[in-house]
Amino acid sequence: MGNNIARFYCPPFPDTASDSTTMPSENIVIIGASWAGLYTAHSILKTLPKDSPNSKLILINPTSTFYWNVASPRLLTSSLLEASDLFIDLVPGFAQYPAQNFEFIQGTATSIVPTSSTVTVRTSEGDKQVAYTQLIIASGAKGISNVPWKNTPDIDLLREISNYKAKIAAANTIVISGGGPTAIETAGELATENPSKKVILIAGEARLLPGLPASAGTEAERQLKALNVEVIKGVRVEGETETGVRTSDGKTVEAEFFLPAHGVLPNNSFIPKEWQSVGGWLECDEYLRVKDHPNVWGVGDIVSYSFRNVGAVNETTAYVSTAIKTILAGGQAATKKFAWGIANKPVALVPIGKSGGTGYFFFMRAWSWLVWYLKGKDFMIAKLPTVVEGQVNTMGKKL
Ligand SMILES: Cc1cc2nc3c(=O)[nH]c(=O)nc-3n(C[C@H](O)[C@H](O)[C@H](O)COP(=O)(O)OP(=O)(O)OC[C@H]3O[C@@H](n4cnc5c(N)ncnc54)[C@H](O)[C@@H]3O)c2cc1C
Repeated sequence: MGNNIARFYCPPFPDTASDSTTMPSENIVIIGASWAGLYTAHSILKTLPKDSPNSKLILINPTSTFYWNVASPRLLTSSLLEASDLFIDLVPGFAQYPAQNFEFIQGTATSIVPTSSTVTVRTSEGDKQVAYTQLIIASGAKGISNVPWKNTPDIDLLREISNYKAKIAAANTIVISGGGPTAIETAGELATENPSKKVILIAGEARLLPGLPASAGTEAERQLKALNVEVIKGVRVEGETETGVRTSDGKTVEAEFFLPAHGVLPNNSFIPKEWQSVGGWLECDEYLRVKDHPNVWGVGDIVSYSFRNVGAVNETTAYVSTAIKTILAGGQAATKKFAWGIANKPVALVPIGKSGGTGYFFFMRAWSWLVWYLKGKDFMIAKLPTVVEGQVNTMGKKL
């Protein structure tokens, strides 16, 4: 660990003889404080029994800010948004809970030792050993490059945001890779804000929005073409050349700038290999726990079978928070299996440009004006403070 001073964070277990409370003592450690980690932390702390002086929730994240990343397609391509609009300090939102029950550690988890139930956290003051009785992994996913789509450890987000904003603003021809919401939203924003730029979308699948019924993809393509975006389907970007990108059909597409907007990878560098699925996600059982480790849980994007959207975050965090609350109340957790709710249904809103978009609502394609009204007009930024203060989740449901 170099010159780092290793410190041991003992759970605040009392001397049993002097402990007058009958409530269990739990040291709940959450790794990651984006959507999933934040919701879980607030949800647990809100209902922590009053007589829980010996239980504590420790939240670990590389930064002390929350990033409203769903608006990053507009942030990176438009002068309408600045980074300061999408970041908010997440720590003050926890002042509403008793100080003894909460601690924030700004740092990056670098390893987990299941035999001693400890997490090693790299901080600016050196490595810390944090002990857990319940461990919740909410470390999410990152993009395949440094493009600041997500709050990613080891990336200087603010620097990358200003870097990418400047490069996108300077380029006249831009290739965007991907056929999902991030790529489509970014292409639409760019073409609307800068009609003089040539925008080329290269999607690997035969149609856009492959996760939704076909009519949504057809409509996305129609709206993009109406904005003069060139759409190339069924071809993958395989690498960059001096003048553009090389594609899987052996061609070169000329461009001044390439913006990768496809695919995500798990933030798993600290997760024991035997806990990982094929692809490196956290292998969770039907109770969102790690096999043979009933006190280790997964929430949000990192879960092996997650749909990796905020709906899936809402549902996994609600389940795990309830399980932890049951444990804190002295009960038996995880007697009922986790089951997806609406996160399992085709629901998505994909703004395209400043006044429309497409998507799907359960059984029908979403109307363009509704996509604009519900999401495209401000990318829901107005909800940022309420989410960070732990009032509601993105569905407006009280935590
Ligand atoms: C551009 C874009 C737009 C999107 N728009 C939408 C949308 O409109 N609707 C929707 O439903 N979904 C959307 N999504 C998906 C949504 O962002 C994810 O589902 C959501 O971010 C998952 O939240 P999470 O907390 O599980 O993980 P993440 O948001 O990935 O956060 C993980 C957190 O863990 C931290 N972390 C990682 N490793 C460590 C470590 N070793 N130690 C400590 N902390 C660590 C990270 O820094 C981060 O803060 C979008 C995704 C992208 C990329």
